[in-house]
Amino acid sequence: MLSFIRLGVGFPYRSFHGTRVFHGIVDTRGHSGLISPSGAIASPGYLKLGSMELPVRPIWPGLLLNIAIVAVPVLVVLGVRDAWRWVHRARAGECTGCRYDLSGVPNRSPCPECGVERVA
Ligand SMILES: [Zn+2]
Repeated sequence: MLSFIRLGVGFPYRSFHGTRVFHGIVDTRGHSGLISPSGAIASPGYLKLGSMELPVRPIWPGLLLNIAIVAVPVLVVLGVRDAWRWVHRARAGECTGCRYDLSGVPNRSPCPECGVERVA
């Protein structure tokens, strides 16, 4: 008789899973998360990295939700950083694209270094 233990990992949503196969009946009390009973005869869906084994089969809804949860704050931070940089450069009289010093360049003409149009 074989026993199968399917393990899902990920935070905040489970996003990867794998299965461990054991001979006989496995007592899983006290085992959770990445820790599973030793003695698996096969681990389909696991990637062995040295002494660690990580489940690698995607659980698409959880994986996509986790990516969205991480990506949204990163994109907001990058957007705020770019906006701050743009305002700082414009106020300093520099090109907003390449920081070229625009003193002496006529107001409506584009940056002579990179060609970015200037805002009045
Ligand atoms: Zn420029």
